[in-house]
Amino acid sequence: MTQPVHLSIVVPCFNEEQVLPETARRLDILLRELAARGDIAEGRVLFVDDGSTDNTWPLIAQFAAADARFHGIKLSRNCGHQRALLAGLLSAPGDAVVSVDADLQDDLEAIKDMLAAHAKGAEIVYGVRRARKADTWFKRVTAEAYYSMLQAVGVQLIFNHADYRLLGRNALEALKSYKETNLFLRGVIPQLGFTSARVYYDRSERFAGESKYPFSKMVALAIEGITSFSEVPLKLITIVGLLISLASFALAVWALWVRITNPAAVPGWASIVIPLYMLGGVQLLCMGVIGQYVVKIYSETKSRPRFVIEKEL
Ligand code: UDP
Ligand code: MG
Repeated sequence: MTQPVHLSIVVPCFNEEQVLPETARRLDILLRELAARGDIAEGRVLFVDDGSTDNTWPLIAQFAAADARFHGIKLSRNCGHQRALLAGLLSAPGDAVVSVDADLQDDLEAIKDMLAAHAKGAEIVYGVRRARKADTWFKRVTAEAYYSMLQAVGVQLIFNHADYRLLGRNALEALKSYKETNLFLRGVIPQLGFTSARVYYDRSERFAGESKYPFSKMVALAIEGITSFSEVPLKLITIVGLLISLASFALAVWALWVRITNPAAVPGWASIVIPLYMLGGVQLLCMGVIGQYVVKIYSETKSRPRFVIEKEL
């Protein structure tokens, strides 16, 4: 049996005054229970206020004043869920950090299973939704189409997993070496490697308040996921460029052939059509070549770690 862990729970909050008191109450109960069961040696909660404009921060300050296990950090402006989450993950102390949304959609009971999986050696434990009954038809269909699309362009993703997960200290340290500003955590975490496990839970409805993820933010996240992790769109340009330019060259040869063999060809026709095809072909081919270099620049500028050492003897 491994030592009981020091646990931090990171909760990103954007205008969540309606749910926060209930979230804090439930987290308090959970931490007490975990400590009583001997699952954790110590537990704390870190709320990250992502530039809220309502009463979120004063509430967090209240929790922190009333209870030494509650802590908060306030971002200077609204930076978005992913960055708020990262701010929390990189600031939270402890051997294991669980990230969970403020709105109580994710069943907190799953944290028990996550800790159990962590104790058995999993460095990363993904919370995976069993059913999406609580989501609207539209959200469910778009979300599932999105996961499938990302997988199709080669982004490693955990199906039906959002940002409810446990990360061990080693995984957190590895995460620190990902310096990219366009951050898509759901894609980065599976890339870290390490032993991982999944726990399943039912996702319920938002406890109170409205979704802070309108359609526009969902689309932005979807595009982020593809452009941060996939070179497929750029490679497609190269392939399409190559095919079209081959066809153009063939057409140019055909135009020349018609010009020579058919005395009835309209004068001036070949001299217009041949350069048209040739130029189009050359241009697309060049764009494809440039695309290949852009792919390289793109992966270099992300300056991701080339490897992560898990253990040394
Ligand atoms: N959130 C955030 N910054 C934002 C938008 C959302 O920190 O700009 C937080 C929000 O407070 C919640 C979590 O991210 O804790 C998930 O948001 P929400 O529940 O509204 O998304 P949904 O479940 O509807 O996809
Ligand atoms: Mg939610």
